[in-house]
Amino acid sequence: MRILNNLLVLGLLLTSVYSFAWGTTGHRVVAEIAEAHLNSKAKREIKKIIGKQPLAYWANWPDFIKSNPDWKMADSWHYLNFPGGLNRTEFDQTLENSSEENLYKRTLIIIDELKNHKNLSLEKKQENLYFLIHLIGDAHQPLHIGREEDLGGNKIEVEWFRSKTNIHSLWDSKLIDFQQYSYTEYAEVLDFHNKKFNKTLTAGNLNDWLYDSYQKAEDIYANTKAGDKLWFPYNYQYVSTLEEQLLKGGLRLAKVLNEIFK
Ligand SMILES: [Zn+2]
Repeated sequence: MRILNNLLVLGLLLTSVYSFAWGTTGHRVVAEIAEAHLNSKAKREIKKIIGKQPLAYWANWPDFIKSNPDWKMADSWHYLNFPGGLNRTEFDQTLENSSEENLYKRTLIIIDELKNHKNLSLEKKQENLYFLIHLIGDAHQPLHIGREEDLGGNKIEVEWFRSKTNIHSLWDSKLIDFQQYSYTEYAEVLDFHNKKFNKTLTAGNLNDWLYDSYQKAEDIYANTKAGDKLWFPYNYQYVSTLEEQLLKGGLRLAKVLNEIFK
């Protein structure tokens, strides 16, 4: 009984810790969609680096290593914290002036290393690839491009079907888990559009995609307040945004990988 109590306490402690990532399912959906859109050259090259397991298998590795002190410096790679209300010019300036150790700069570094530094060790290439799969996912969770003062929504507490949570965690995992798909099912039901439509979703570059997520975050902030009791209506309001972000994340990750390994 004591062990059970200790486990319960530990569980409560762990769930109250701030979270900074799409949940495991979200990252796998993004990776699974990307996998289906890789060209054969990229597939071959990626296999040489990470072996036969699907991208989805590695999608959460950068979260799993967070407890390792050797990777402490990578904690800030998963997100950007911006003030609210920036227009596009201000947003781009803030990106340019931001730290090397954030989602934007680190993603650019990783893309450059994978593309132009073929002499790096296999282990380094693997780490880069795991991070890229993961970070392009995080770039599409709107609240990873959230505000500094509330830690991307981590400090905005709400109820989700009567249980306490915060809006960051809601968007990381609770909204996804509510749909009750496995990651492969979710990838399959989202990824049905024709090439022409998909092309509209992958237009632009990382700056454009981050600004897109930032605008989604602004909308979420405007419509989700501390103390809100959220349930079915919120799901109805936002499930299409959630699914659009997962699909875009997957298609854009494929675009980046095809471009790296062309
Ligand atoms: Zn993350």
